[in-house]
Formats: sequence, structure tokens, C-alpha cells
Amino acid sequence: MVSDGPLSIGDPKNTFRGPTAEELSKMMSDQFLPTNNVVLDQNVLVINTGDKLALFETGMSSVKRNDDMGRLVANLKQSGIEPADVDAVIPTHAHIDHIGGIMAADGSRNFPNAQIYISQADLEFWTDDKRLGTPAEGSALAARKNLIPNRDRIVFYKDGQEVLPGVQAMHTPGHTVGHTSFVVNSGGKSLFVSRASRRALRSWTCSQPSACRRSSTICRGPASVISPSRATASATWRSRCDWCFS
Ligand SMILES: [Zn+2]
Repeated sequence: MVSDGPLSIGDPKNTFRGPTAEELSKMMSDQFLPTNNVVLDQNVLVINTGDKLALFETGMSSVKRNDDMGRLVANLKQSGIEPADVDAVIPTHAHIDHIGGIMAADGSRNFPNAQIYISQADLEFWTDDKRLGTPAEGSALAARKNLIPNRDRIVFYKDGQEVLPGVQAMHTPGHTVGHTSFVVNSGGKSLFVSRASRRALRSWTCSQPSACRRSSTICRGPASVISPSRATASATWRSRCDWCFS
């Protein structure tokens, strides 16, 4: 796992719906996080299949809000990974903090030899003119900046399809229309890959299957910004938990 840097998004009660104020406060403090500000870890999973070097998510280098973020490329190099060696970039969805690091701040490509795997639904939704001038504009502009210049490198996939050998797409809509998780299979074991940024939420919900299943926190913020369907997001969240705990 390699970090792009932290992303602050403000008061926890605006993000996590379901837990009480007391539960929220404990959840945050148990994770050594401030109780008045959600700080997301913008983590990028790197896997080497033996044949392909792949990244899940990209951070925000092209649209960074401060110098604490947009550090993925530097951190990859410090980890001994050359960005030019990356074969596949696989954002789970097209929100700003997931596709914003395909390009660098200067408009160059961070991963010049990579193909980009993303759902067609998300590409179309987030590059649609209808998003401009709405609260969703930040992600829409990031999608234009990062996806459109790379259109010839983008590979679409279908639900259940192997995007790389041993890496299977699982359509998990709701957070965005094309939001996708991935199952990495190797040596008889499986790794479930999804948005990994919400450390506090993951720890809290995944320690309590019943709480996990009733939580709708996968869908945060105004519906117009994050998701066209809060109900779909909740259903996806529950089914994903069922898969994890089965
Ligand atoms: Zn998102």
C-alpha cells in the first residue's frame, strides 16, 4: 500500500450516517484520529501479478489542494517502484480522489505506459456536461482533466470480467453509478479490493458485522455529489458485507 497523502473532509457527522455521536467520537478516537475532522488516507494498493504491475486508485496530484497530497509518484519511487513500469491503473470509480492522480499537476502523464481500467458508466457520468455547474463539478472537472486526455488508453470491463489475470471486477454501484470493487485471487486465497480510504469506518464497521450491515455510510454527502441512488448504495454495502463475512 502506498500513500498519496491525507485528504481532510470536515465534520464526521456529515460523512458517517448511522452511528450515534458517541459512537462516532469513539470510532475516531480509537483510531487516533481527530474527532472533529475526517482525514482520509488516500491509499493506493499496488500488486504485481508476476506479469503485470497494477495500481488501484491514483490520488489527487493533478487537482491537489495542498502539498500534503499528490505524493503518490514520489512515494512509489521511494518504494522502489518506477511509475513508467506500471502496466495498469484501476480506479474503483471516477471521483476526484480516485482518478485525480492519473495526470500530474503539470498536465503530464504520471503512468505513461499504463492502460486505465474503469467502468464505462462512470466515465460517461462524470464527463457529462450535466455535471458542470452542480455540486459535483469538482469530480467532473477532475474526470475531464484525467480521463479524456487518456481516452485511447482506457479499457472498459463488464461485471464479473477478469481485468487482469486473477483480478475480477465486481460491480458495486451506488457510491457512483459505475463503482466497482475487485477480487484478487492468488494461491487459493482472495483479496477484496474496494475504496480503502476510510480507515476509521472500515475498522468500526468491519469489527461488527451487524453494524456493518445496517450502515449506509458508503453513501456520504449530498446525493447529487456522490451518488444518484442512496438506496442502491446501501444495498451494495450490505451485499458487500455479506460477501466479506461469508
Ligand atoms: Zn468516491
